Amino acid sequence: MIARSLAKWQGEDAQAEPWQGALRTVIRDGDELLKLLGLSPQALAIDRRQAFSLRVPRAFVARMRPATPDDPLLRQVLPLLAESTSQPGFGCDPLAEAEANKVPGLIHKFHGRVLLIVTGHCGIHCRYCFRRHFPYAARQASRADWSQAFDYIRRDASISEVILSGGDPLAVADRHLQWMVGQIEAIPQVSRLRIHSRLPVVIPQRITPALLSLLTDTRLQVSLVLHVNHAQELDDSVAAALKPLRHAGIALLNQTVLLAGINDDVEVLADLSERLFAIGVLPYYLHLLDHVQGAAHFEVAEQSVRALHEALLARLPGYLVPRFVREVAYAASKIPVGSVAP
Ligand SMILES: *Cc1c(COP(=O)(O)O)cnc(C)c1O
Ligand code: SF4
Repeated sequence: MIARSLAKWQGEDAQAEPWQGALRTVIRDGDELLKLLGLSPQALAIDRRQAFSLRVPRAFVARMRPATPDDPLLRQVLPLLAESTSQPGFGCDPLAEAEANKVPGLIHKFHGRVLLIVTGHCGIHCRYCFRRHFPYAARQASRADWSQAFDYIRRDASISEVILSGGDPLAVADRHLQWMVGQIEAIPQVSRLRIHSRLPVVIPQRITPALLSLLTDTRLQVSLVLHVNHAQELDDSVAAALKPLRHAGIALLNQTVLLAGINDDVEVLADLSERLFAIGVLPYYLHLLDHVQGAAHFEVAEQSVRALHEALLARLPGYLVPRFVREVAYAASKIPVGSVAP
């Protein structure tokens, strides 16, 4: 049932667009991925039985360096045996989101904004994802359930911003997005619409003229928060895809997750901020890893976090230094971390 309605939202019953083709032809097999990169199956200890499966679009693989086992893009997606080591303090719902799930598909934790889980589906599976154990199937709102979510928003005059999240909200077909945006803009006190998506990065073809008009033909002020962890993810195709959004006045922001062995380095983070700005995106958050089971090997020690923050502040203009934050269950916002004043 859920699979069927998902397929429908993704437009698989309609004429497929190139981005939908790219979603269907993602790589799902670790050995195939290694082979494409010219790596032997023994090069890395792959976990072939992970419940949170390997999933990576070919356009993203094309940005990986061949024959490089520690490539920062490869490391974000390849399930390693290290994930099976359980670590004390790393659980399945580290942010207590299950509790903030007020009505199906809606998470209300912070004042003035709610997050809608548009779909559990993603274009890519990131190994460190804090939602990797989230019971999407059970929480997935049906189209009928959505009316409950919109009623919830309508009844709370303090809510002025709606965030489309997931999963990846841009993994659904335009006509479903169009319907959601229409419902949201019909709620008078909502003035801002925010989209949290990694698809414009991993499948830049997702930004079509139709999506652009969907996001501009609304009274809502729209922002798009991307998710990029390393400058190597940003090639010319991403830059070209984002340009019309920027020209249409959509605010472009980025969030990054701090990941050991991938971007826990001043040069790498400075490079990322500069490359983002060059293509019109401002660094927003740098998230410390959520303590989700299976991701402990990406953890960066607190002392190194402080040192990184200080070094970045000394290196870049203030507007290119992302806010270093941690998610804390039951807190009223993301919690700032990083260097303390000397
Ligand atoms: C991160 C998050 C938000 C957005 O927080 P901002 O500080 O506004 O970016 C909203 N709701 C939930 C549940 C979140 O996790
Ligand atoms: S795209 Fe976002 S939600 Fe999907 S797996 Fe990656 S981090 Fe998680």
